[in-house]
Amino acid sequence: MSSLIERFDQLALSLPLLETLKEIGYEAPSPIQAATIPLLLDGHDVLGQAQTGTGKTAAFALPVLEKLDLTNRRPQALVLTPTRELAIQVAEAFQGYARHSPGFHVLPIYGGQSMGIQLRHLKRGVHVVVGTPGRVMDHLRRETLSLAELRTVVLDEADEMLRMGFIEDVDWILEQTPPERQIALFSATMPEPIRQVAHRHLRDPHEVKIKASTATVETVRQRYCQVSAQHKLDALTRVLEVEDADAVLIFVRTKVAATELAERLEARGYPSAALHGDMTQVLRERTIEQLRGGSLDILVATDVAARGLDVQRISHVVNYDIPYDTEAYVHRIGRTARAGRTGDAILFVAPRELRMLRAIEKATRQPIERMPLPTQEAITGHRLAQFKQQLSDVLTSQDLGFFQEVVAEIEREQEIGLHDIAAALTYLAQRDRPFQFEDAIPIEVERAPARPEREAKPAGRRERPPRDSARHSADFDKVRYRLEVGHQHGATPQNIVGAIANEAGIESRYIGRIEIHDDYSTVDLPDGMPKEIFQHLKKVRVRQIPLNISRLDGLDPSAKRPPPKRAVSKNKAVAIEIETPTRKARKRTS
Ligand code: AMP
Repeated sequence: MSSLIERFDQLALSLPLLETLKEIGYEAPSPIQAATIPLLLDGHDVLGQAQTGTGKTAAFALPVLEKLDLTNRRPQALVLTPTRELAIQVAEAFQGYARHSPGFHVLPIYGGQSMGIQLRHLKRGVHVVVGTPGRVMDHLRRETLSLAELRTVVLDEADEMLRMGFIEDVDWILEQTPPERQIALFSATMPEPIRQVAHRHLRDPHEVKIKASTATVETVRQRYCQVSAQHKLDALTRVLEVEDADAVLIFVRTKVAATELAERLEARGYPSAALHGDMTQVLRERTIEQLRGGSLDILVATDVAARGLDVQRISHVVNYDIPYDTEAYVHRIGRTARAGRTGDAILFVAPRELRMLRAIEKATRQPIERMPLPTQEAITGHRLAQFKQQLSDVLTSQDLGFFQEVVAEIEREQEIGLHDIAAALTYLAQRDRPFQFEDAIPIEVERAPARPEREAKPAGRRERPPRDSARHSADFDKVRYRLEVGHQHGATPQNIVGAIANEAGIESRYIGRIEIHDDYSTVDLPDGMPKEIFQHLKKVRVRQIPLNISRLDGLDPSAKRPPPKRAVSKNKAVAIEIETPTRKARKRTS
């Protein structure tokens, strides 16, 4: 991707948007933004190959907001996402970027949420709709969503929509849009069916692809730690505790994040400073000098501010926020292992960002080793070992005559044994920084096993759709259900997984074996489905046919029955829970 755009003010964005970006702390457009925003502002269709973490949401949200007519309260942009979580996240991003656009309305619509709420909002008028294909189709069929004024359609994570069996739905939705609308299609990979959708619906699309720079970084030991956003700070603390580091450079995405993280580290007893583009040159240089001279050990920086930084003491680079592309990654980790030394690079990745991790491995042609989160016991052990070392250092290097007299005096006057005195002194020595380390990371997260391989495939490899009987699902108490769609209706396992995952909020790994028969299918789902979800799933459609779900054993989950012995909630990741503990089992008489 060749782009000469390095600053947001080089893009034709209006002042309120530029002001917002400044407030949020974005320093510079990410590569996908620099390439895509001008094209979308110019009215072109875009085929963008980009995964989560590249900044693709702002790449389409900013031009959409720029072109909105706020006086027109019929949807002017429609964003289709594969999951409800992404729909909500994208809608929130829009809301955030539109903070200086009073009266702006964005509505996420997805299965599982009450139709009533969505209808009320749609009636009141919205500018942008972000939704999952199933629910968007529902509204279009009921004519509760008008696409007459639509100017832009965005397909976000198109390959995920394909994997979840939504691609025909997407095709159908696109057919309902006005012919002159603009389309931006984003996908981490470009399998043939996605190219076909692009071919059918996009006009003369400009392709945007993130440059994959290849570089060897043999002197840097690269590791990654899988951690969700909410546990990042605790994870960082743990890493700082156990790594044998000289100086540490931590990368974040925004100026605001740099300042905030440096402050939070300070508050936890790790002296740190921020380095970002809003600081004066003098202050920046002074901070770098402190790092170089050893009076500062932890620096939290943005990419822009750390460009070309050359401090030999940097033994560790921590990618606290994942970089936008492999080029940025290579630059970041190149800040360590300077002047013939070796260095360590640690990358924090959320489960959703695993694809970027694989793309980086591919580009650097080196595996990035998984690093388990250091455990609380490991940190306690580390602190104890440090203390013991300090003790023996003091014993060999200090004249302790005066202090020995003090101890002897305490022993004499207070009649306390040497053991007790030593224990009390040890306690005092660690009071401000207790040996027994504790933080807010729950034990199960700390010990979480590796994610299933399915999420960790290298970018670019074609996803294999789940097969009828060979799906790898989690271990859970299952109940087999019958669905009234089968081969003759064109149902596929992907359609079924997609519909159930989105409409019932059940993670796809908890959707078990699927068998497609001629005029019906069966699927294994976790035991203990709440009756509301069961009733809702009856109405959910696959290939336009209502699933009309029923239990294969004839029991009716919507009848009152006692809770099963092992409730679904045993599996923490299952989103559904038993709601009425008084349900009674009842045999269906039919
Ligand atoms: P996305 O790839 O759209 O999911 O964005 C990933 C993260 O990057 C989000 O937390 C955004 O807020 C952040 N982000 C997007 N663009 C920028 C930018 N230009 N500067 C800093 N952070 C950004």
